[in-house]
Amino acid sequence: MTLQDIQTDTPARDGTLRHASRNRGLFPSILDTIGRTPTVRINNLGPRHVELYAKLEAFNPMSSVKDRLALAVIEAAERSGDLKPGQTVIEATSGNTGIALAMVCAQKGYPLVIVMAENFSIERRVLMRFLGAKVILTPAAERATGMMATAERLATAHGWFLCRQFENNANIEAHRTTTAREILTDFSEEGLDYWVSGFGTAGTLKGVAEELKRKNPATQIVAVEPENAQMLNSDVLQPRLPDGRPARSHPNSRAHPIQGWSPDFVSIFAEQALSSGLIDRFQPVSGAAALQVARRLAALEGIFCGPSGGATMAAALEVAKTAPDGARILAMIPDTGERYLTTPLFDDVPVTMTAEEAKILASVPKPPRQRAQNRPDQEPVIPPQASAFVAAALADTDARVVMFGFEWCEFCWSVRKLFDLAAIPFQAIDVDSAELRKGDAGGQILRALFARTGMRTVPQVFIGGELVGGATEVLNAFEDRTLHARLAALPRPIRAQPVEDPLSLLPQWLNSAKGLG
Ligand code: PMP
Repeated sequence: MTLQDIQTDTPARDGTLRHASRNRGLFPSILDTIGRTPTVRINNLGPRHVELYAKLEAFNPMSSVKDRLALAVIEAAERSGDLKPGQTVIEATSGNTGIALAMVCAQKGYPLVIVMAENFSIERRVLMRFLGAKVILTPAAERATGMMATAERLATAHGWFLCRQFENNANIEAHRTTTAREILTDFSEEGLDYWVSGFGTAGTLKGVAEELKRKNPATQIVAVEPENAQMLNSDVLQPRLPDGRPARSHPNSRAHPIQGWSPDFVSIFAEQALSSGLIDRFQPVSGAAALQVARRLAALEGIFCGPSGGATMAAALEVAKTAPDGARILAMIPDTGERYLTTPLFDDVPVTMTAEEAKILASVPKPPRQRAQNRPDQEPVIPPQASAFVAAALADTDARVVMFGFEWCEFCWSVRKLFDLAAIPFQAIDVDSAELRKGDAGGQILRALFARTGMRTVPQVFIGGELVGGATEVLNAFEDRTLHARLAALPRPIRAQPVEDPLSLLPQWLNSAKGLG
């Protein structure tokens, strides 16, 4: 698919048709679902005298505006011959570009290496790796210029295709031919008075602003920067190398919480947008306002976005304050909030039940306690072959470490993870496996096990036929090295590899659940 296909795919002017076709029906591949994101009216957050809208880029398949750029850059390089079949692709990114490239490269079969500073959210790394990319982390202190230099060195050394999103014109083209056209279609009848956007590469800012201004010079372009790192909106020019790349950090650059915006330099596209008169106004936004508006968008509008979306909407709300009656204002919302669960955006969100929630639970009487399932008069019969199975498994000299458990059980997974990390060979008997389900063999084995050990939970871990206990006992025994002693005492001793903080392998909810009243 080409970008032209996206264009022709977007039926012009007819809103009904556009919405009916967006992301419905059969698509040749995931790449064909990129773009045609919805523009949504904001009803509860803003003042009444304006019409406020949000363009929701989270509707892209990997949930950010960068899906557009990734597809455009890769397909432009395929057309120019710069990218050969099977060649490795590499890019330096604050994350969303990497996630988008990982999707495009997965579909098209290119190996991908992403270089990213270590301070961008953990979700980003994990998503990229899940999609098959390799993620190289660079020190936070080296900032964006550092990660770009690393990508450059790797690309040169290995002959990889470097995407260069900060200088690649395909970035601008993607936004001119898709994002901008979608906006023009959405506002073809009423017109758009203000378009508000932040910038990282400024592909969105320059590409969209160019098209909007070309069609209607009266549309005001509002560029948003972090309040503490105003670089484009300053008298200091970005120092550049002869080829236009930044020579070093901009003196006004500062760390800020709006991931994806304003790296430690001004992109050449941002500078070009300013010098060609595309920017009518700057609107600085504080990190605190960005996070607060992202939270308000979620709570009052049901719109879930990241800090850059919150920052853009915060700027749009500032614009609204002085905009004339009936003005139509559109804010670009670049991605989803789900990418920031481990960041300060979620600092105020408790993991345990709050007092208020506990009160809701306590507002109805507790159901009567369930009677114990194993009342003596109903003690289940344990077939002798089930007891024999358990005895044989524990007597088996080849299976020196044995775990009885369930396939789905998180505690069993904690033990599995420990044994894998420590390189301890073990036999897992999953009583809920498809094989042992037949004729309730698994259930009978479990009852035989419970009868033998007197313990009524799983996993149950044995070393040399002796019970160690459940997940917590095993992890504790590893921590205090009594497990090592047992392994060493076996007729054929096992040497465990060191594992740092084994108790952290327990299910993560366990620690927070401990705080439950
Ligand atoms: N917000 C987020 C979350 C982003 O990842 C990016 C891209 N770096 C942007 C905004 C800015 O987009 P652009 O690079 O097109 O300026």
